[in-house]
Amino acid sequence: MTVDPAFAPARILVVDDDLATRFLASEALEQAGFQVEQAENGRQALEAFERVRPDLITLDVMMPELDGFATCGELRRRPEGAQVPILMMTGLDDFESINQAFVAGATDFITKPINFSLFEYRVRYLLRASATVANLHRSERRLATAQRIARLGYWDWRRGQDHLHLSREVCEMLGLDPQALEVPLAVVIERVHEKDRARARDWFADIQSGLGPRAINHRVVDVGGQVRHVRQQVEAALDASGRLDHLYGALQDITELHQTEERIRQLAFIDSLTQLPNRELFKDRLDVALKLAKRHGRPLALLFLDLDNFKRINDTLGHGVGDLLLQTTAERLKASVRGGDSVSRVEEDEQEDSVARLGGDEFTVLLPEVQHSEDAAVVAERIQASLSRPLTLGGHEILVTPSIGIAVFPQDGEDSETLLKNADMAMYFAKRQGRNLYRFYDPSLNESALKRLTMETQLRKAIERDELTLHYQPQLDLLSDRICGVEALVRWTNDLVGTVSPLEFIPLAEESGLIIPIGEWVLRTACQQAKQWREAGMGLERMAVNISVLQFVQPGFTGLVAKILEETGLEPAALELEITESLLMKDPEGATHTLQALKDLGVQLAIDDFGTGYSSLSRLKQLPLDRLKIDKAFVREVDTQPSDAAITTAVIAMAESMGLRVIAEGVENEPQLCFLKTKHCDEIQGYFLSRPLPAAEITTLLQSRFVARDAGG
Ligand code: C2E
Ligand code: MG
Ligand code: MG
Repeated sequence: MTVDPAFAPARILVVDDDLATRFLASEALEQAGFQVEQAENGRQALEAFERVRPDLITLDVMMPELDGFATCGELRRRPEGAQVPILMMTGLDDFESINQAFVAGATDFITKPINFSLFEYRVRYLLRASATVANLHRSERRLATAQRIARLGYWDWRRGQDHLHLSREVCEMLGLDPQALEVPLAVVIERVHEKDRARARDWFADIQSGLGPRAINHRVVDVGGQVRHVRQQVEAALDASGRLDHLYGALQDITELHQTEERIRQLAFIDSLTQLPNRELFKDRLDVALKLAKRHGRPLALLFLDLDNFKRINDTLGHGVGDLLLQTTAERLKASVRGGDSVSRVEEDEQEDSVARLGGDEFTVLLPEVQHSEDAAVVAERIQASLSRPLTLGGHEILVTPSIGIAVFPQDGEDSETLLKNADMAMYFAKRQGRNLYRFYDPSLNESALKRLTMETQLRKAIERDELTLHYQPQLDLLSDRICGVEALVRWTNDLVGTVSPLEFIPLAEESGLIIPIGEWVLRTACQQAKQWREAGMGLERMAVNISVLQFVQPGFTGLVAKILEETGLEPAALELEITESLLMKDPEGATHTLQALKDLGVQLAIDDFGTGYSSLSRLKQLPLDRLKIDKAFVREVDTQPSDAAITTAVIAMAESMGLRVIAEGVENEPQLCFLKTKHCDEIQGYFLSRPLPAAEITTLLQSRFVARDAGG
């Protein structure tokens, strides 16, 4: 049968050189159920100790070789012997021995002659006491381990004292000597991170007076000089009269938790591309800053910034370069705000945070401490100067400028939403007025800006909502009196903004880059329509489509035209692209190249609104053009204004000499028509013949014309 060690009898080592005592003691203990081992002297005792590991040792004082004191001392020096209870047997009234036994580390003493009937009880009492001590040690060890794992320490403080009692763990966390334990309050406070020190000191004062929260998080500097985050929790003990007597505190190292929280915060509130605060965080900051500004009665400025032409850079050089540009912009913005003047006296910590990225190429800068609103202009200028410095990104030289809108609290808005909206509006105006500008918000901007803004947002959805249509205006060949072509003109009707003229929304579409998808839609729709009419045998020779400069300079434009022609099955010669003179002025080389590529496709090319630009005739000669469209500005008074008559006459003559055909647009009445006929203008277009009409009406018109001609001819 095996014995459960928990219930095994205690092992007692009896050490005595006197055989009789040894024998009697052993007898008494064995009778009481103990397991006994004997040794005659100190040396044997040490050897037996190593072998049996007794639960208790009775030790005679006077022995040969190694006496009781030396044996006791030696046992205490061994790690396993430090805690074992040792009962010294001393002579009665031998105070010297009793004292020496105490010094050597004995647990208790018993005097000789020994009363063996009591001996057993003495041993039992001692075993129980030592078990309690051992338990206490064990639980202390467990607690210490648990605290180490949880990175938890404790401290306590008694009223009126100027020092704290700290646990080892707290000492370690605070970078103090782990043996110190009693540490002056001032020294403890010194270990708190300097930025949190005042707050921690106030907190400690508050809890003493029964105020303030029971917990606080702050930073400390640990042994290695590392900053760690800790959480302190405290409990107060009151005396009988209800006065604070004692504070018990726990200090936990929450650095890892803090890091995790920081990572979560990063994901939720920090823009991953630029590492700037995102819109959410920015709004929070703005709200806080507004509260402070209100409390202190001082102004606050908000800069809203947008890069001019960012979309084009992104589209032409790719998103990689676009991303780099945004990152550089973020850096430059931060540096501009950091500028060492008193204008933007933002605390160093907050400086970086005062810049945010709202999304896309939109950034905001918060200036919470402006003295006057004009100070914001100084910062705006500094930002402009910094951002407009040329850049080389991904091997490309890039020039980018910001447009900046400024709104100032309180005059331009009292809440974050209004301020942001108005700064945005001011930015929009800066952009409208020519880019690389900054503008202060002005309430009068509101109405017209709002309209444009609504228009722009609505326009973005125009294609998918099917709000665009094409009207077609016939063109008449004067010689044959036949409708030789139509010009496609885009129309937009929207629930919110009503019917908008292309004169209004095409420039807007060009600014926002929306002209690219809109232009593509127009081209495809017009080609499909032309194909339909031609298949129906309507004798339509030509479909003219207006092309914006922005479309024309797109790298893949010629390819797009080819693709649409193929998709729709329209013969290239039946398509005419109308471009304006301004295009030829901006980039003559590039324009010539693209025009030639288009000509090679077989499409026809016309210069629209001719006469309003400044193209030189010699240049025109080198271009593969088919037609000039005399602008309606000259046609309007061609029969009454000699100068208009002269220009029109000259254009017709010149075109003829260059082998180009001429069409006059905006012909509204008979006299204009007569004049153009006498000058041998080739074609006309205008209200006199027909207004631009929806496809169905053009179908009817073409049919009737066709029938009439057939009948007549
Ligand atoms: P545009 O290409 O010069 O088109 C002729 C404009 O003159 C059209 O205005 C037409 O309705 C108008 N018009 C025609 N006959 C007469 C007339 O007898 N008297 C007067 N006073 N006006 C006449 P609309 O449709 O408002 O278009 C204005 C401009 O918008 C166009 O000028 C063109 O530059 C642009 N646009 C129109 N559709 C498109 C398009 O699909 N793409 C592009 N990029 N631009 C377009
Ligand atoms: Mg046109
Ligand atoms: Mg025109």
